[in-house]
Amino acid sequence: MVVEAIPKMTGMIYAIIGFFILVVLFYKNRFTRKIGYLFVVTSTIVGFLVFAPMFPNQFQLLILGKAWENQVAIVGFLLFIVLTFVFGRIFCGYLCPIGAIQELVYSAPVKKLRITSKTLPVHLLFFIVFLFFGLVFSVGILTYLGFRDFFYLNITSPFFYVFLVLLVISAVIYRPFCRFFCPYGVLLSLASARSLFKLRRNDSCINCKKCERACPTNEADGDAKLECYLCNRCVDACPVNAIEYSRNNF
Ligand code: SF4
Ligand code: SF4
Repeated sequence: MVVEAIPKMTGMIYAIIGFFILVVLFYKNRFTRKIGYLFVVTSTIVGFLVFAPMFPNQFQLLILGKAWENQVAIVGFLLFIVLTFVFGRIFCGYLCPIGAIQELVYSAPVKKLRITSKTLPVHLLFFIVFLFFGLVFSVGILTYLGFRDFFYLNITSPFFYVFLVLLVISAVIYRPFCRFFCPYGVLLSLASARSLFKLRRNDSCINCKKCERACPTNEADGDAKLECYLCNRCVDACPVNAIEYSRNNF
């Protein structure tokens, strides 16, 4: 379904403009989950039409030495790491088509399975395996997870169905691809761990823990950290408006 006539740059421009619109909405406390869904639907459509911005794919191409001539992709890849370091995981939350489609599927009204332990150790292990196979054997193991075939609707490829299964799992487990497999996600997790802006509790908190029960990644027990996708579930769950997107005071 990807329309090759549409320049990949379109996806990059969409992501940059979308990013700053979302930053302003978060900062002004005007963001709502309805707006968030508008973005995840749009990002999913952009993914199917343009297959951009797909930084996990760019990262694999860079590791395989196949994208160094594409300076726009490299600049975009680095730019969103820097932006995440400042503003948190807005890109993952709303603009990456792979993240967006998992977010959409998770809204399906089925019983959820919440993983209560930290996913970062498993994610880091996969990241090391990804780097090892890419750098030593020139094998891109992300290919076998099939998101490229999925967005290209290449139903003759067996990997299309691997990603389809991951998506079905996404209805029950929050963002399995992002939390266990995405190599770019590892970099963005680390960048967001101490981001300048993030969701924080203020003094109004009555410690009712409703935000912690609402969070699909166990990040709402204090200032949101590296696995926060800025989904805003904690903000909506808080009865006293004690969670706000604000700047680190250091
Ligand atoms: S973790 Fe990776 S796949 Fe998930 S939203 Fe972020 S960049 Fe996209
Ligand atoms: S519920 Fe709150 S802390 Fe948890 S991922 Fe969503 S925005 Fe981040």
